[in-house]
Amino acid sequence: MKLTEWFKLESLHISSSPLLLSVIGIFVLLVTSFVRILLKLYKGKSFHRDDFNSLALDPLDFRSFKLIEKAIVTPNVRLFRFAASHPEQLVNVPLGKHIYAKAWINGKEVRRPYNPINKPNQVGYFDILVKIYPAPYGLFSRYLDSLEIGDCVEFRGPKGKFEYKRNMKKRLGMIAGGTGITPMFQLIDAILNDPLERTQISLIYANHTEQDIIFRNKLESLASQFPTRLKLYFVLNQPPSSWSQGVGFINEKHIQHHLGYASSSIMILVCGPPAMTKAMMILLNKLGYKGEDIFKF
Ligand SMILES: Cc1cc2nc3c(=O)[nH]c(=O)nc-3n(C[C@H](O)[C@H](O)[C@H](O)COP(=O)(O)OP(=O)(O)OC[C@H]3O[C@@H](n4cnc5c(N)ncnc54)[C@H](O)[C@@H]3O)c2cc1C
Repeated sequence: MKLTEWFKLESLHISSSPLLLSVIGIFVLLVTSFVRILLKLYKGKSFHRDDFNSLALDPLDFRSFKLIEKAIVTPNVRLFRFAASHPEQLVNVPLGKHIYAKAWINGKEVRRPYNPINKPNQVGYFDILVKIYPAPYGLFSRYLDSLEIGDCVEFRGPKGKFEYKRNMKKRLGMIAGGTGITPMFQLIDAILNDPLERTQISLIYANHTEQDIIFRNKLESLASQFPTRLKLYFVLNQPPSSWSQGVGFINEKHIQHHLGYASSSIMILVCGPPAMTKAMMILLNKLGYKGEDIFKF
């Protein structure tokens, strides 16, 4: 039982006796002081532990990270590189987990989650890929875009329910839209470059225009390096006239043809705008995918 619940029960019980009330009061004071001392000791101890200091991020406390690089990926997508406070610190973000960024914008504290795209053993820095929304939207992304090299942002993490284990499925079927590519790219890059991995990956990636396809070169070069392990299918709703891949929004035929029907050997990962992920769930259910066959980032 929680201490607070226990106290509530006791205070109801003692309301009729002033002596018992003062005894309980002293007891409460002693217990809270003791707990406070214990917490202080624990914090002090953990702060000096080597493993604590060797990790860049803390899941509970926000830490400050300096922006050291900024790159334009597509007209409205930027890549930001943030340095850990020590170059040898491990950036402790497992595959598919996200971190929270925090800043004060127009006098208000604003927090947003982002998926770092680095391999899980990244040391010294991490990269986030961010879509910059135009005003009046994009409170946080426009703030990030306005930062100068050397400015600092606070982050904490990792967070998230996705747990990846090496070779946990024979195949991963990925469906991404826009910046929903971030967790997929991180997984693809890490899995294909891991010599102990055998997982095959099929990615269906939706965007508006050809220009909007994030990491197209990197994805295509990985697909030609690992032709039996990575299959790509791009879907555009504003395609150029010469376009030979998917047109419109991702539909049942695209999924059936590129990912197939549900089976015990495949897991589907979905990441994109809420309307897209909702539509994908309906299509996936039609193809037999249920509950644990699908993970929505
Ligand atoms: C687990 C998780 C991981 C994420 N990882 C990433 C990541 O790696 N990269 C990334 O870029 N984002 C990521 N996001 C989204 C990110 O957290 C922010 O939501 C995003 O950056 C937008 O925040 P913002 O403050 O810039 O925009 P906000 O001020 O919150 O505005 C954005 C909102 O405006 C809406 N909007 C934009 N344009 C229009 C329009 N014309 N008409 C109507 N509505 C419009 C959008 O639909 C969106 O909901 C992630 C989200 C989650 C939940």
